[in-house]
Amino acid sequence: MGDKMQDVYLDYQSSKPVDPRVVDAMLPYFSKSFGNPSSLHLVGDEATKVLEESRAKISAFIGADPEEIIFTSGATESNNLALIGFAMRNKRKGNHIIISEVEHISIHNIAKYLQRNGFEISKIPVDQYGRVNPAKLESRINEKTILVSIGYASNEVGTIQPMEKICEIVRDKDIALHTDAVAVQGLLPLDVKRMPVDLMSISSNDIYGPKGLGALYIRKGVGIVPIIIGGGQERGLRSGTENIPSIVGMAEAARISSLEMPEETMRMTEYRDRLIKGVLENIPKSHLNGHPTERLPNNAHFRFESVEGESLILSLKDLRIAASTGSACTSKTLEPSHTLIACGLLHEEAHGSLEFTLGRFSRETDIERVLEVLPGILERLRKISPLK
Ligand code: PMP
Repeated sequence: MGDKMQDVYLDYQSSKPVDPRVVDAMLPYFSKSFGNPSSLHLVGDEATKVLEESRAKISAFIGADPEEIIFTSGATESNNLALIGFAMRNKRKGNHIIISEVEHISIHNIAKYLQRNGFEISKIPVDQYGRVNPAKLESRINEKTILVSIGYASNEVGTIQPMEKICEIVRDKDIALHTDAVAVQGLLPLDVKRMPVDLMSISSNDIYGPKGLGALYIRKGVGIVPIIIGGGQERGLRSGTENIPSIVGMAEAARISSLEMPEETMRMTEYRDRLIKGVLENIPKSHLNGHPTERLPNNAHFRFESVEGESLILSLKDLRIAASTGSACTSKTLEPSHTLIACGLLHEEAHGSLEFTLGRFSRETDIERVLEVLPGILERLRKISPLK
């Protein structure tokens, strides 16, 4: 995020700035209060106190109890711990796991790993908007199913899944439900009492906390085994000295998010709708990817006929505007997005996509700037496009 007026950052799904209030909260825990919670002296006690206070704040953010939170190095690790940790612990009950076609790449790759290790994986298809049909999910459950993992919303096309319905289906069966809630946190309230999932992955940076920290919610009574073995921190489920400054940062980020979410979400929705309307009305052969209404308040994901998303990104980059072609986790591959393909797009259609994600520091002028330059960029690129 630059300071100059012309800099526009609309790629909040890839990375968010750490909120300056979070940085302030973290600072004392680098050099002044630097203890290790495992130490028995006063400096260690101080670290234990702040660790547990932070855990309580983060658990409150999702309606959980503090002992249901395990700190990790980020959402990738939380997803690994949830799926591999649960699968390994419960493999005697069954070896069948269900995910959807539009999961984050980490879930797809963990599922592949489990498949190589004797588990059967079913992938639920989605509709054109990227939504899982709960009836289809139900029809794939069998007596060997032990776990269902469905992301709460797509970090790419922004579609929100019918999580309450999915919870209802899984609830009465002896099957655990995991959700990767990273795309949703800070945008919609999360409450594991109202939406009774068994495992939930969250991350710090997605609520404007530092990178490299996440958490896994594990409902009381749900059994998992650790995937990182060592000194037995985090109730033996995630060894390694706790990253206290980042944990304090995530707790402060969660506190701020709870307070500011309603106003922030309202503002982002207004900007997002203006951007979607402006693009669809002023740019011929433009389409919205993802669900028209069941979508994240910060997500505007488009498809433009006869252009490559990469050329759009580079033209915007020349004007100091940051957007994305989809998930940052896969943007360096030449493969089209698996999410867009799952929504039924052809390869060439998937390659013509452009994603804008708004955030806490987005301004009305950012939207105006995009709407001012994008029609001209498309006109120019289409003139020279071999895809016409
Ligand atoms: N899940 C989702 C939905 C994501 O968007 C991301 C990336 N922000 C991850 C998991 C992985 O997070 P991290 O890179 O922090 O491990």
